[in-house]
Amino acid sequence: MIRLRPFLLMFCLALCLPQASARQVHPESEAKWQLSVELVAHGAHKKYLKKVSELQQGQLLDTDALFVTRLHRITSKLATQAEHDYPSSKNWQWEIHSNDQEDEASFCMAGGKLIISRRQVHDLGLNDTELAMLIAHEMAHALLLHHYAEDVEALRLFPSWQQKSFEEFETAVDDDDILVSALAQLGKQQEFEADIKGMQLALQAGYPAQGLLSFFVKLRKQSAYPNFESRSHPAPAQRVQRLRNWLLQAKLITAQ
Ligand SMILES: [Zn+2]
Repeated sequence: MIRLRPFLLMFCLALCLPQASARQVHPESEAKWQLSVELVAHGAHKKYLKKVSELQQGQLLDTDALFVTRLHRITSKLATQAEHDYPSSKNWQWEIHSNDQEDEASFCMAGGKLIISRRQVHDLGLNDTELAMLIAHEMAHALLLHHYAEDVEALRLFPSWQQKSFEEFETAVDDDDILVSALAQLGKQQEFEADIKGMQLALQAGYPAQGLLSFFVKLRKQSAYPNFESRSHPAPAQRVQRLRNWLLQAKLITAQ
């Protein structure tokens, strides 16, 4: 039996060596993590807690109690509808806060973590239905797993990111110029999708079609360049047009 050991060793080396050299040739095989919907939601939750804590320290979080109550009331109504329309969201813990930062837009992270810009709502003069449209749009991004889809595409294009930590990858998807540019087209498709699916959600929850469309009309009116897309979003006029056409086809509004 003892004499067999050198052969076993040789056999092991023969098996292991090609793998070792293959690793050098294909560094992407050394993935440090595997992407999943759960991993993306977990990472988002960590970032959300950090963001909320920073805003709190800067006294920029939930500064207007009445506005926060309004956000909770509308989100609760939409989340109840989402449970019905997207059963996989049944156990989600939706969270929503307001942000007084001057330069930050509203957003939703994976798993249903929202931050709404109080300034944006104030500047646009949003009534409850229009605010419901803004929140429903943000919720739709999470319900449609847009963050996960974005990560899938990023790794398809740049698989070597899997050799770095997941935290570094997440930050790069938001901030790295090359990644942001490469994902811009997908991002714009996701915006159109969140517009329609968010509007469907709000309609099902009982908000009126014309009032929901009014949110996008206000966005268009406020924009200095309504016919031009930005780096991350489609042209405001195009968003209004698509939604108006969709509502007309569904006979939810009439041509004026
Ligand atoms: Zn969006």
